[in-house]
Amino acid sequence: MSYSLLIRNCGQLLTLAGGRPNRPLATGWLILPDAYVACRGPEIVAVGPMAELDESQVTTETQVLDARGRVVMPGLVECHTHLVFAGNRAHEFQRKLQGESYLDILASGGGILSTVRATRTASETELLANALRHLRDFRRYGVTTVEAKSGYGLDKETELRLVRVAQEAGRQQPVRVVSTFLGAHVVPPEYKGRPADYLDFLVREVLPELRGQATFVDIFCEEGAFSVEDSRRYLQQAQALGFWLKIHAEQLHDLGGCAMAASLGAVSVDHCDYLNLEDAARLGNGGEGQTIAVLLPLVPLFLRQEKYAPGRQFIDRGLPVAISTDFNPGSCPSKNLWLALSMACLKMGLTPLEAIAGVTINAAWALRLESEIGSIEVGKRADILVLDVPDYQEIPYWLGENPVREVIIGGVVCPADLE
Ligand SMILES: [Zn+2]
Repeated sequence: MSYSLLIRNCGQLLTLAGGRPNRPLATGWLILPDAYVACRGPEIVAVGPMAELDESQVTTETQVLDARGRVVMPGLVECHTHLVFAGNRAHEFQRKLQGESYLDILASGGGILSTVRATRTASETELLANALRHLRDFRRYGVTTVEAKSGYGLDKETELRLVRVAQEAGRQQPVRVVSTFLGAHVVPPEYKGRPADYLDFLVREVLPELRGQATFVDIFCEEGAFSVEDSRRYLQQAQALGFWLKIHAEQLHDLGGCAMAASLGAVSVDHCDYLNLEDAARLGNGGEGQTIAVLLPLVPLFLRQEKYAPGRQFIDRGLPVAISTDFNPGSCPSKNLWLALSMACLKMGLTPLEAIAGVTINAAWALRLESEIGSIEVGKRADILVLDVPDYQEIPYWLGENPVREVIIGGVVCPADLE
C-alpha cells in the first residue's frame, strides 16, 4: 500500500529519537539533514535520508508536502494547562502591576476564586465554546496534544462538568485532549478552614465518578492551598482508585511537595521554582527516576517574580524536565509554548536542544504517552510540524514568534482556515 502522506526535503528533521532508549531525554537525539517522513493513515511508517526514499511507495494516492529545506519536527505536547474556565482576570493585571502578590490577591477573594465564581455560573455550551477556541489557538501554535485540568468549579457538579467539557472538546476538533482532575486546586469558600474535609469529600463523592474520564489527579500543594500531609493522604487515596498522579508544588515556597509526590510515583511534579537541588538530585536518581519536572517559565514572568526553576541544574542532576505554558486565566494567560521554550533557555539555562525535548518527547513522558507521541519514529502517531525556519537554532531565537507553517495531526494536514 502506498504512502498516504509524504513530507520530503526536510532540511533538518528533528526526530527526538535515537537517544537513550526508553528514558526521557536531554540531548543525544538525532537530527537528520535532507530527510523525509512518510505516513500511512495516522501512523509514521518510514523516516530517513531523501536518498533512501522508496519512490515506489509514492503514487497518485500520496499527498506530498515539500518542506523545501525547512525544519520538520514532532507536534508540540502541552502537558500542563487549565483549559476550561469562564471569564478572565484582566482586571487583576493592574493590581499586580501596583505590587499586590499572587497570594495577597488570592487571600482577598480574587485569583482562582474569582474564576471559580465565573465558571460556576457559566453554561456548559459557553465553557465548551471557550475550550474549543483555546484549542484552536494551541493548534495554530503547533500543539497537537493538550493536557487539560479541571479546578475552577470546586464543587461536584461543576468539577464533573469541566472534565466532561474537556473530553467533549477533544472529540470536536483534532487536537488530542488528556484530562486531569484538579478539584484540589484551592479550598472552596464552602469549606473555608477545613481543607482536609474538602479533600475527603472529593475522594468520597467525586473521584469515583471520574474513572475512565480523567487520567490524572493533581493537587496544589502550597501555603494558602493544601499542606504536604493533606496532599499526601489525598494522592494516596487517588492512586488507590487507579489514577496517575501529578502535583503543583514548590511554586512559591520549598515545602517538600515534589519529593513527597515523587515518593508516591507521581508522573510529574510541576512548577519546581523553589525545589532545592538535593531533592532534585534525589528525584533524578542518577537518571533512573520515574518522575518528570514540568517547568513553567511564563508563570514567574507574568507574576513578576525573579525566581525561576534552575532547570540547568536539574538536568545536570539527572532530573528530566518538560516545558509547558501552564495556560490559565490568572498566572499565565498565554498559549505560546514557543515563548515558554525561549524563556526556558533564557531564564532556566536550558540549551535549545534540551528545550525542544522539553516540549515534545519529555512532555509526552509527563503524560505517559511517550510510546505514542513526542518523536518522529516508525510506529508513532503522525503528529508533525513543518516550521518556517531552516535551522533549529532559530526556534528559540525569534522570541515570541510562531514558527509553524503546517500542522499534521494523526496523518492529516490541518487546513489553514480550520476553526
Ligand atoms: Zn497549573
